[in-house]
Amino acid sequence: MSQLKYCQGPLCHTHDTKDRKRGPKDNKRNETRRRSRLYYLGGNACDMRCQSEWFDVYGQRALDHFGRITEAKVLTKDNAWQKRYDWRSREDGGYQHYLYNHLTDERRNITEQQYDNENTITNDGQLNI
Ligand SMILES: [Zn+2]
Repeated sequence: MSQLKYCQGPLCHTHDTKDRKRGPKDNKRNETRRRSRLYYLGGNACDMRCQSEWFDVYGQRALDHFGRITEAKVLTKDNAWQKRYDWRSREDGGYQHYLYNHLTDERRNITEQQYDNENTITNDGQLNI
């Protein structure tokens, strides 16, 4: 059985919906939503409103904690690589996977295994093969 977890939206309990209501008639209350799966805020908020309210309350502190961008980040031909594929483009009906440089339009075919390998391109778009 999967573990239920609470929405991390700081105002979740204040949104008045039936599924948040708990308690007997004379002692009604609204509670933070609890779900086995949450789809917002990286799996931590029940909806976009709670995600947005989390950022309103904690976003500035999160940026201060993890570090702000203090100079321009730059995209050049060296970090402009993306993985792509053409759907059913091969004669055998398979997908042709390739690396694509979206600044130079260069295209390099790769295998499906290279496509699935998360290290083929670094997080900042540089080739790693
Ligand atoms: Zn919520």
